[in-house]
Order: sequence, then C-alpha cells, then structure tokens
Amino acid sequence: MLKVEHVTKYYGEFKAVDDLSFTVKEGEIFGLLGVNGAGKTTTFRMIMGLLEPTEGKITLDNKKIDYSVTDKIGFLTEERSLLTKLTVYDQCVFYGTLKGMSKKQIEERLDTLLEKFSITEYKHKKIKELSKGNQQKIQFITAILNEPKLLILDEPFSGLDPFNIELFKKEILDLSKKGSMIIFSSHRMEHVELFCKKIVVLLHGKSVLAGDLKDIKEEYQKKNILIQGDFSLDEIKKVKGVINVTQGQDYIVKIENGDVVPEVFKKLRDANITKFVVEEASLNEIFIEKVGEAYEK
Ligand code: ATP
Repeated sequence: MLKVEHVTKYYGEFKAVDDLSFTVKEGEIFGLLGVNGAGKTTTFRMIMGLLEPTEGKITLDNKKIDYSVTDKIGFLTEERSLLTKLTVYDQCVFYGTLKGMSKKQIEERLDTLLEKFSITEYKHKKIKELSKGNQQKIQFITAILNEPKLLILDEPFSGLDPFNIELFKKEILDLSKKGSMIIFSSHRMEHVELFCKKIVVLLHGKSVLAGDLKDIKEEYQKKNILIQGDFSLDEIKKVKGVINVTQGQDYIVKIENGDVVPEVFKKLRDANITKFVVEEASLNEIFIEKVGEAYEK
C-alpha cells in the first residue's frame, strides 16, 4: 500500500503542499486532481522520491521510498522524459536495465507492448523521428515495461487519438487488475470518472474534496434532467428547486435534488416530450463547484 501521511512541502517560504494524506491500495486507481499549480507535480515528485517532504512521510509497503524501491515505480509525467536521440529499443533497454530487468525480459516485454500499440515498425527508429502521439506511447511503454507495483500517470492521454486512448485505457485497467497501484491525474474529468474509485482534489496544495467517488456523487445531490420536445421553458424555470436551464442539444434542467424530478415532470404532462432523462451530476460539475467554493473562502 502507498501511504501519504500529513505531507507538507515548502519551496522556501512558499507552501506548495499542505498537510496532504491519502492511501492507495493494491489494484486501486486513485485520482489526484487539482487546478493548475495546485501541487500535483510536487506530490508526484515526493512520491517518486525526487523531492523530500518538509513534513510528513510517504511509504510504499511501510518502507520509505528511496533508490531501493524505485525499480518498483513507473511514471509517465507531463514533462517528456524520453532520450530522444536514442532508438525506441535502446531507450527501453536503458530504462529496463535501470529497473533491474534482464535483456531477455526487456526484449520480450517490449515486443509485446509494441505490438499491442501497433508500433512494432518503430522499434529501431530514433524517438525524435516519431510523432507526438507515438512518443507518448513510447513514454507509456517505458513506464510500464517492468509492470510496476506503483504507477504514476500524469495526463497519460495527452496527444492521443480516441482509438489509442482506448488501447491505453485497456492496458491501465489490466495493470490494476494484476494488482498495480495507480495514481492517475488528468484535467479531463470524464477520464477520471471512468477509472478512479477514490480521488483527492487539491487547491493551493490543500485537499478540498476527497473520498470515494461514489460517496462524493451521492452527497452532491444536484442532478440534471435532459429534456427534448415542445414545452414551456418558463413553467419549468418557475418550479421550486430548479437551479437553471441551459440549452444545447437537449434542454438541461439543473435541479437541487431528486425530489424536484416529479415536480418538473408534472409541468410536462400535456407537452410533447421526446426525451426525459435524469442524470447524476458529472465530476466536472462537482469539481468546478467545489473548487469555486474553496476559492471564495
Ligand atoms: P499543473 O496542473 O499546472 O501542472 P501542479 O498541480 O502540478 O500544476 P506544481 O507544479 O506542483 O502544481 O506547483 C505547485 C506550486 O508550487 C505552484 O505554485 C508552483 O509555482 C510552485 N512550485 C513548483 N515547483 C517549484 C520550485 N521548484 N520552486 C518554487 N516553487 C515551485
């Protein structure tokens, strides 16, 4: 298990991470989220053992993270860490060896992964000659070459097309099924919702929202009703508990809680309705509201 306990990090006088605690168990995909500058990268660096926390401690299976466990950690960070003058093969041999793999293990695993991501033809190409998306694939392959116990993924889908995003997703889910602990960070909340059971949202280095995604959604009672058809918008807006109505492909009626649904429905009894769907709020909405509230405090 990864344990982050009361971790604080100062850069000089500036507090970048403020009393942060969370745990990630085997097989869990954990979402570390936050606005720009919230302290995510600093937290990743502390977890990877590249920065020392000012206060608090971080342990992997009850051991402090240092060079002796770094071969169990894989990471894909936003800053590219590819050795772009090397070929794909040479860079993977380099990193694989650093992580204690034999050349035979590296070759077998590399061939499997290159095939999975349909880039076998690039094996002996220099990384700098690859497209952005293919470089991202190589970065991901490097991160998971040794099936790490702890995998840190910061915006892993950056630069990927939808088809390749699916391939990455499948691989990430397979790794978690095999027991890897995965910390996932993205500004794309729909990706976070797909993967993460637990999340923490940082603002100015402090947790402003944390816990089980299911519980967070249940506690946040607001819902959306998606409606299509001919009806009186004014009548709907007047219903007690309707927060607002926006219009896109559907009318989206934002309501205080589930009790408002029958009241809205009543107003549509004589209207010509082709769609009426109640949806829970998206993580994106919750994120924006919670971070907004915390900013105002
Ligand atoms: P983003 O989503 O934009 O990548 P982040 O959540 O990863 O942001 P961090 O990079 O961890 O944020 O930065 C947190 C805060 O610490 C920011 O205000 C940043 O300016 C500051 N900071 C980061 N690195 C240093 C450093 N080496 N020295 C001083 N301040 C730093």
